[in-house]
Amino acid sequence: MDPKLTEYDCTQCGACCRSFPIFASEADAVREPMIRQEARRLPEHLETTDKAYQLFPLPFHTRCPYLKDDELCRIYQSRPSVCRQFESGSEQCIEARRRQGIQSTGT
Ligand code: SF4
Ligand code: SF4
Repeated sequence: MDPKLTEYDCTQCGACCRSFPIFASEADAVREPMIRQEARRLPEHLETTDKAYQLFPLPFHTRCPYLKDDELCRIYQSRPSVCRQFESGSEQCIEARRRQGIQSTGT
């Protein structure tokens, strides 16, 4: 991760994959079987339609287990819905980058 990265280039960033709690649904896990293998299944009383597995935080992990060292998502094509909806350049994106010490354009 380059702290001087000023463009919202997700291929060199990954800040959102290490900053906020990340959850996947049962539908996400059906689409991507690796979610069942590496994420934490939530107890039944905490489960909702959108949240059945926790990807981050997990014990001993400093980022989502699918974020590779090159800052790319290992399951990008079948990533959870919440990741698909996350927009680069959004307020949350800027906040994630701020938490990871990455400058953002115009800030
Ligand atoms: S959405 Fe924002 S925080 Fe997430 S990888 Fe892209 S630029 Fe980084
Ligand atoms: S599944 Fe991929 S896009 Fe989603 S938080 Fe993990 S590494 Fe990032």
